[in-house]
Amino acid sequence: MKNWAGNLEYSTDRLYSANSLEQVRTYVRKQRHLKVLGSRHCFNNIADSTQNLLSLKSMDQVVALEPEARTVTVESGMTYGQLCPLLHAKGFALHNLASLPHISIAGACSTATHGSGEKNGNLSSAVSALEFVTPSGEVVKLSRQQDAESFLGAVVGLGSLGVITKVTLDIQPTFMMRQYVYENMPLAEMKNHFDAIQSSAYSVSLFTDWQNQRISEVWLKSRVEGGLAFEATPEFFGAKLASKNLHPIAELSAENCTEQLGVLGPWYERLPHFRMGFTPSAGKELQSEYFVPRQHAIEAILAVERLRDQVTPHLFISEIRAIAADNLWLSPCYQQPCITIHFTWKQDWPAVSKLLPIIEKELAPFDAVPHWGKLFTISPAVLKSRYKKLPDFIQLSKKYDPQGKFQNEFLRTNIFTS
Ligand SMILES: Cc1cc2nc3c(=O)[nH]c(=O)nc-3n(C[C@H](O)[C@H](O)[C@H](O)COP(=O)(O)OP(=O)(O)OC[C@H]3O[C@@H](n4cnc5c(N)ncnc54)[C@H](O)[C@@H]3O)c2cc1C
Repeated sequence: MKNWAGNLEYSTDRLYSANSLEQVRTYVRKQRHLKVLGSRHCFNNIADSTQNLLSLKSMDQVVALEPEARTVTVESGMTYGQLCPLLHAKGFALHNLASLPHISIAGACSTATHGSGEKNGNLSSAVSALEFVTPSGEVVKLSRQQDAESFLGAVVGLGSLGVITKVTLDIQPTFMMRQYVYENMPLAEMKNHFDAIQSSAYSVSLFTDWQNQRISEVWLKSRVEGGLAFEATPEFFGAKLASKNLHPIAELSAENCTEQLGVLGPWYERLPHFRMGFTPSAGKELQSEYFVPRQHAIEAILAVERLRDQVTPHLFISEIRAIAADNLWLSPCYQQPCITIHFTWKQDWPAVSKLLPIIEKELAPFDAVPHWGKLFTISPAVLKSRYKKLPDFIQLSKKYDPQGKFQNEFLRTNIFTS
């Protein structure tokens, strides 16, 4: 059994699928060790187990939509792709989405998955309450309103506190969007106008292969409301407005990409880059991504650009995004806005594993941290030193899971072993 990208074979085939909270409780009580598998979109072994895997995929219903409270509560096997059209039909929206909608809500929020937009926190920042099952089968509920600190520790929980069975998310009135793509922005324009570019639309993504001193594509997603919609001029900081739909990798067909060219559409069909109904992205690939505090954005981007001749041969495409600060302990954006520098690699781990330490060394002066669900080689000691709330997180995890029932090699190495 493999992950989505096929680069990771899980260390056991023992997979139990639960259909109800009671089944989850009974199963958890019986096992000595287990991990929950979400939609398997992580590239590293964060979801792996050598003993037992638990799937909540069939627990995928909306439990409650509360217009007054502006929240929706879902079972944790649900994906964003399942939830979004239902929410829109009821007149509501989420604040943001990742590049593809096929990921589970619980898995995405457990790993601080993000979209883009300098005013938008990551997807975890929309979580307002969680229900999870602890090692003894007890059901715990934590909410932003009632459990202040422990809630902030639990949301980006890396699957280590318990089996999440329900997630409550903040919602807002539904909105429409337009997406425009521009081609070939000179790197100097990006450098000189980074803030203006980032603030020009609700969500901004910069794609580059690092060659020829340019950002190959700029994706601008703007909300259509209150007269604030982005005015699509033929040029945008030296880049030219595209005249057809594009894939982030310009040579690939755009048929699986969300509609561009300013065509009006609901938020959930514009915020992701890839459509729900199609196979996303480039297929066989690996991914790495580093979060850098916003104030170091330009320096960090230029540091990677200097590595272009080492990076490009192994790369499909890179993407640069902006994320607002939040208060979630293990979020890379804990109390600091960030930019992310993402790499979609060709599936050649021997080559990529040699490159990552070189990139990580260049980004070290900026205290970069990796995405929890993607490939990295930063040492556990360095990683831990970059999360100031880590000691509190360890304490919180141990409160709910004192015997480490939900720990695996990834968590022991990167979080729990001192
Ligand atoms: C093509 C592609 C595009 C991507 N785009 C983005 C992007 O735009 N932005 C971004 O930030 N990331 C992106 N990612 C990464 C992805 O969002 C994360 O890896 C996310 O964690 C995937 O969720 P999952 O459920 O598939 O993860 P899984 O690998 O199945 O699980 C992730 C973690 O969550 C835990 N978990 C899952 N469900 C539960 C539960 N019910 N209870 C307790 N723990 C649970 C697992 O144990 C594991 O630790 C992308 C990945 C792919 C393959």
